[in-house]
Amino acid sequence: MKDFYPSYYKEFRCIAADCPDSCCQGWDVVINSDTESRYNTVQGEIGDKLRAAIYTDADGDRVFRLKDGQKCPFWGEDKLCDIYRELGEEYLCVTCARFPRLSMDYTVFCERSLALACPEAARLITEADNAYDSFDLTDADVCDDYSPELMTFLLRARKHSADILSSDLPLKDRLTELIRYNTDIQNQLTGERSAAVEKASDCKYIFELYSKLEYIDPMHREMVLNSAVDKPDFSAHEAEYTRLALYWLYRLYLNAIDTADVLSNIAMTVCSLMVTAAIADRYSLSADKAAQIYSKEFEQSYENTERLYDEFKYDPLFSAESLIGLL
Ligand code: SF4
Repeated sequence: MKDFYPSYYKEFRCIAADCPDSCCQGWDVVINSDTESRYNTVQGEIGDKLRAAIYTDADGDRVFRLKDGQKCPFWGEDKLCDIYRELGEEYLCVTCARFPRLSMDYTVFCERSLALACPEAARLITEADNAYDSFDLTDADVCDDYSPELMTFLLRARKHSADILSSDLPLKDRLTELIRYNTDIQNQLTGERSAAVEKASDCKYIFELYSKLEYIDPMHREMVLNSAVDKPDFSAHEAEYTRLALYWLYRLYLNAIDTADVLSNIAMTVCSLMVTAAIADRYSLSADKAAQIYSKEFEQSYENTERLYDEFKYDPLFSAESLIGLL
C-alpha cells in the first residue's frame, strides 16, 4: 500500500496546554471496546473514575459523560489530559490518540491529512504552500473494491482541478473555472443533468442553510447569521483561502469513487470557503481561526455533513450555474 502525506502532516505536534480551543471541549469521545476493556483493569481512583464516566449514548456508542455537558471529565485544570498524565499515551482511546490525524484508505493507497478542527492543524494547513506535491498518483492499481478506471479518471480530474486552483488568477476566477471544469467532468461521469436551475441574487441563502444545522456552541450560529454577505470577498487572505480550497479538494474529491458525484464535493469546497471567509471578515479573524470554527461545527458532525451534501446535490440553488453566479 502506498501512503501519501501532505507536507504539513509530519510537522504536527499537539500544543496541549497552549491550545486556544481543545479537542476535549464539546465533543462526545467514543471509547473503542479494546480501550474500555483495558480501563476495566485499571486500579485505584483513576480506574474508578474511568468506569464511572463511561455510558451508552442514544446512538449506542460508549462515550465519556461530559462535565457541564461541555468538557471531557479527564480534562485537567491545566488543560492537560489526566488519562495521559496518570496512565500514559497507550491508555488513550483510538479517537483521542489519532486526532487530528485523518486517513482516507483506498485499499491500494492511503491519503493522510489533518482535521482543520484542531487549531494547530489549521495553522499548519493555511501556512503550507505546495502541500500536496507528493500526491502524484494519477493511475490507479487494480483493486477489487472499486473500478480502477474510475479511480484513474478521478485522480486525473483532481490533479487538473488542483492546477486550476494553483494558477495566478484571482481566487473567484479560479473557483469559477473549477466549477466549470467539474461540470464537464460530471457530465462525462453521469451524463448531462437536466435538473432545474434556480439562480439566487446573493449568497444569503447559504448562511440560512448553515444556521439551521446543529451547533456545539450556540454563539457560532449567531456568528454565521451575522456574517451573511451578498458576495464572497476573498481578498483579505487570498493565499490562505487558496490553501484551504486545495485542502478541501484533496480531502473530498475522491468521495466520488462511491457516489460518482464530483459536483457536490466542489459545492462543499466552494461553500465552505465562502462561509469561512465571511466569518473571518465579519469578526476580523485570521483564516485559520475562522476555518477551525467552521470545521469544528460542520465538518466534524456526521449529521451536518450529510445535510449539506443532500442540499448540494438536490437543491437547484446549489447547482453549478447558481454557484458561478455568486462568485
Ligand atoms: S485541538 Fe489539536 S492542539 Fe488542541 S489539544 Fe487537541 S490535538 Fe492538541
